[in-house]
Amino acid sequence: MILLGKILIVEDEQAIVDLILMGLRSNGYKVDYALDGEAGADFIMENHYDLILLDIMLPKFDGYELLEYAKQEKIPVIFITAKSELKDRVKGLNKGADDYIVKPFEMEELIARVNSVLRRYKGTIKLPNITIDTKTHEVKKGNVVVRLTPKEYDLLIYLIENAGNILTREQILASVWNKEMEDTRTVDLHLGRLRKKLGLDTVIKTLPKVGYLFEV
Ligand code: CA
Repeated sequence: MILLGKILIVEDEQAIVDLILMGLRSNGYKVDYALDGEAGADFIMENHYDLILLDIMLPKFDGYELLEYAKQEKIPVIFITAKSELKDRVKGLNKGADDYIVKPFEMEELIARVNSVLRRYKGTIKLPNITIDTKTHEVKKGNVVVRLTPKEYDLLIYLIENAGNILTREQILASVWNKEMEDTRTVDLHLGRLRKKLGLDTVIKTLPKVGYLFEV
């Protein structure tokens, strides 16, 4: 598992709940869900969550009311909104939601937003034997600090955020180097360094002629 976290979904459309459940669980998250606002409030009061995915239009309590519960418990919230709810998105952010995502959405985008919000809040990412402090960018292998260059650090975070997805060299280059470099061998070199420094030989897989895979 990569970013250990427990997430609550409050959404009244079962099909959307099922979709999000599947996506989050396959990415290593623990997930509970509630189909109305009142059940959602109960879950928030009775459990500890790292993040809540919150629909706005809900039976019983609506998303804004639940946001108050979440804020009281200092749990970050991502609103799930319909396209037509532009006003609601603005209102949600003004009231303290951390982000929003518009239905229908791609699972990859949702996972990226979830990871990003969790990283801001949690401050640390834990992998087996590796700890990353996302505020200071300090990376430890066991108890030993490993010095990474800024690019190696960015690359590591990018791999983690896309764990379980096959990444081509071109994708990695475009996201991490942002077109400063054109030679995809740069990616191979840096990945080689990361593997060596952090002992990630078995975690970062090379897929011949395809690219790389950071295994969950
Ligand atoms: Ca709804």
